Amino acid sequence: MSDVKIQIESLRKELREHNHNYYVLDKPTISDYEFDIKLKMLQELEAKHPEFFDPNSPSQRVGGAVTKNFETVVHNYRMYSLDNSYSKEDLKDWETRLRKIIESEIQYTCELKYDGASISLSYEEGKLVKAVTRGDGIQGDDVTANVKTIKSVPLQLKDDYPDKFDIRGEIILPFEGFHKMNEERIEIGEEPYRNPRNTASGSLKLQDSAEVAKRPLECLLYNIVGPHLDLKTQFESLEKARRWGFKVPEAARLADSMDTVFEFINYWDEARRDLPYETDGVVVKVNSLAQQEELGYTAKSPRWAMAYKFKSEQVSTVLKSISYQVGRTGAITPVANLEPVELAGTTVKRASLHNADQIEKLDIRVSDTVYVEKGGEIIPKILGVDLTKRPENSKPTNFITHCPECYTELVRQEGEAQHYCPNYTGCRPQIIGRIQHYISRKAMDIEGLGGETVALLVNEGLINNYSDLYQITKDQIIPLERMADKSAENMIKGIEASKQVPFERVLYALGIRYVGETVAKKLAKHYKNIEALMQATEDELINVDEIGSKIASSVLAFFQEEENLEIINSLKEIGVQLSLSAEDLAAQTDKLKGDIIVISGVFETVSRTELKKLIEDNGGKVSSSISSKTSYIVAGANMGPSKKEKAEKLGINMLTEQEFLNKLQNTDQ
Ligand code: AMP
Ligand code: ZN
Repeated sequence: MSDVKIQIESLRKELREHNHNYYVLDKPTISDYEFDIKLKMLQELEAKHPEFFDPNSPSQRVGGAVTKNFETVVHNYRMYSLDNSYSKEDLKDWETRLRKIIESEIQYTCELKYDGASISLSYEEGKLVKAVTRGDGIQGDDVTANVKTIKSVPLQLKDDYPDKFDIRGEIILPFEGFHKMNEERIEIGEEPYRNPRNTASGSLKLQDSAEVAKRPLECLLYNIVGPHLDLKTQFESLEKARRWGFKVPEAARLADSMDTVFEFINYWDEARRDLPYETDGVVVKVNSLAQQEELGYTAKSPRWAMAYKFKSEQVSTVLKSISYQVGRTGAITPVANLEPVELAGTTVKRASLHNADQIEKLDIRVSDTVYVEKGGEIIPKILGVDLTKRPENSKPTNFITHCPECYTELVRQEGEAQHYCPNYTGCRPQIIGRIQHYISRKAMDIEGLGGETVALLVNEGLINNYSDLYQITKDQIIPLERMADKSAENMIKGIEASKQVPFERVLYALGIRYVGETVAKKLAKHYKNIEALMQATEDELINVDEIGSKIASSVLAFFQEEENLEIINSLKEIGVQLSLSAEDLAAQTDKLKGDIIVISGVFETVSRTELKKLIEDNGGKVSSSISSKTSYIVAGANMGPSKKEKAEKLGINMLTEQEFLNKLQNTDQ
């Protein structure tokens, strides 16, 4: 083996080990920083030596592949569902049925039932070859590209794994990551996701695997199937899977009797509240695989397993009133104020009602006794009404027609569930929310100024929009509550410093609905300054990569608002960055506009990453695979033979590194 190959292999091995320590064992042994350095080293070596490309290299975790249609794949082994039981009697009945078939002792494995999306992973010679959703159990969707980005899914196994097998598990989204994703959604004015399970299964079907890579998904495994596995029991399979590098929760226990199974259930019914992810029950499985085979399957599920569903944590309490909150974008959220009640270890006083349709569907009325459930959501939800307890004089709830803060009549757009207060310029929570967004970390990141102070400044009448921030004086803020001389100074300094924040972040800070960080970057790069963006028509906007009609019309609406135009003028006078810096601009042209370019091989004067940036900065698009749409290939040394063949077959032009750089030099804009 060449020295480089040895180096690449050893980096891959090391990174795989660190991934395993971090994502499977939760016990990192090096810092994130050290990890990043090693990863970068690997990426650079791989870029220089594409001949050593490996689709299962740890460098492939960042995603990038885009899938338009997920291919349907027939499962190697059918994915059954589970019979459910809701009481200990159900479980005892199940045992009685088992006893009729099995005469010898029965041992059980007890596992938690993870609440996510089921997945089947196929491995061959220790490498992940396919990941397929459950679908109808017989066939599912091939979501391999997306699943590869999930760090707890091993791409290369360790130890004494079998040659060929499938392993089944659940893709889950832990609470912490779910809440963080929702905070970001709320920041850009999108409705938050409802629960971790749907978000996890939705993630598997995203077209852009780079987006999936950003989501903190995990994969927990529970079942191995395949020929000649040399496994005797379910418990042993779990231990083996762990050894091969899979994440298998440690909660699993062996039980010699149903009573021990009940102990497991009782324990976890309580303890699951402390788990970082959602579980909705326990799965009890006959431990011996020989006995499992004897028991076999019904049409739908194995006879050797039974799910026990935890009683969902529900209580009933009285709905005292409904209040309505106004968000930064004017969206109205109805909130139920409840008679405080204990639920899942916390005192619940409020529950989410989502929107008008939800209230109408459940016919929820003030003074009703309602059932409240706590699932993966941030705040508990109302499941329904106990009609037997409805007071006689009760009246249906009429959703408010006017904003509770500014009394403007609410509007509801076709096809939208949410009501909105359209008083963009005069509704206080919207004004405060917009300024809070402007100063937030990912936007202008103004040090020394927090959300509470913004509310105070607005309520005191000192500011009315974000451009007013730059006029505030120390004398004005010192008399405010808890504002010392020093903090006032810091605040002014922080505001002043924000004039240096680059255009793309200013664009995000403006708080245009649906314009998140990524879209802001795209728009900044494309239009280069705010004037050009303001003049863009809807058609032009839609033609920008990744901008759809929803975003386009939101951008147009923003710039049609007279007050926004005034604010932007003030920001300009103040010296806030409303165009790309000279440096950024110098690097950017449209020279390669419309070109779809494939890079292949090793380059001498530029690195692959630099080449990619060069293409993108000049308006071109880099694609990873050759197709009839490819404009041309920039081919370095050692281009892969199969790529070369494909290019020749399709008659696609190949440019050398130097030819490409010359072309870039000589093309007129
Ligand atoms: P259900 O969807 O309610 O029919 O439950 C069956 C599903 O539970 C299976 O398809 C699995 O995706 C999931 N499940 C979660 N945890 C486990 C586990 N430990 N063992 C088996 N199945 C599980
Ligand atoms: Zn309002």
